[in-house]
Amino acid sequence: MKRIGVLTSGGDAPGMNAAIRAVVRKGIYNNLEMYGIKYGFQGLMQGHIEKMDIGSVGDIIQRGGTILFSARSDDFKTEEGQQKAIEQLKKYGIDGLVIIGGDGSFRGAQALTAKGFPCIGIPGTIDNDINGTDFTIGFDTALNTIIEAIDKIRDTATSHERTYIIEVMGRDAGDLALWAGLAGGAESILIPEKKEDFDNIVNRLKRGHERGKKHSIILLAEGVGSGFDYGDRIQEETKLETRVTVLGYIQRGGSPTATDRVLASRLGAKAIELLMEGKAGIMVGIEHNQLVSYPISEILQKESTVNEEMYRLSKELSI
Ligand code: ATP
Repeated sequence: MKRIGVLTSGGDAPGMNAAIRAVVRKGIYNNLEMYGIKYGFQGLMQGHIEKMDIGSVGDIIQRGGTILFSARSDDFKTEEGQQKAIEQLKKYGIDGLVIIGGDGSFRGAQALTAKGFPCIGIPGTIDNDINGTDFTIGFDTALNTIIEAIDKIRDTATSHERTYIIEVMGRDAGDLALWAGLAGGAESILIPEKKEDFDNIVNRLKRGHERGKKHSIILLAEGVGSGFDYGDRIQEETKLETRVTVLGYIQRGGSPTATDRVLASRLGAKAIELLMEGKAGIMVGIEHNQLVSYPISEILQKESTVNEEMYRLSKELSI
């Protein structure tokens, strides 16, 4: 293996830059030539490929977003699109690819690997919805952004004795809502993996109000439904003034936390090691603070699960 390319794909996540930096520097440390591919798979098909040196990744470890930009590409899902991508890789003499993204991006990695082109995946998404790793790059930063918002909303919720529903991202996964709910002391946490009886939510709010609680916070994962619909229903049932805040894209931006930077650096370096060992179609991850790697085919088969102990605890602490 002599030349390695790196790209970011799907939704961006804070810490992707730290991962790009680690991939490029670890490669150069091992005398490999490194190439950055811009705009994900779309840019790969169109040949947006540039050689990277040590300086190309300087001053980015602290920056959110991705210097390689990201894109979603339906063309790449076709046979023709994938052939175009392989032609570009051949043109530049690239023999291996590191793909930083979510499960969609890993399907792309798997498609190229199946065509004989070695790819390694690094989990980069704020959603924390990838199997085979305890954490994805960007999750910790997004979580901290949410906590900052909850603490601020709490001040105004107390002043006005209101119920606040805070809708957070996560696609079909509830991790952001669960962790933020636990860390932010929410009364109820609504996530797609668990069905919560609407009466329970209402009763908990009423009980809290009766014992003199000045405010209530409900964390809602976007995968459950619209915060505004829940807000209307809750206000109607409880007769308590209810407000809704949809945090939206603020959760995707910002400087990555130290935890995300360290995770990104470790995973980036590990991806290069695996390519040098001749591995392909593998995702790197972290479990119990140890680096791990699994075949992407295995990762994509399993359903994403929620931490049962944490979910139970969130209920016990919000009585
Ligand atoms: P996030 O979870 O943050 O949204 P993601 O990687 O899951 O990230 P997607 O939009 O699902 O984001 O996928 C990114 C890109 O990967 C797609 O736009 C497409 O180019 C490629 N891709 C997705 N599925 C496939 C597939 N089955 N075969 C080939 N390529 C795919």
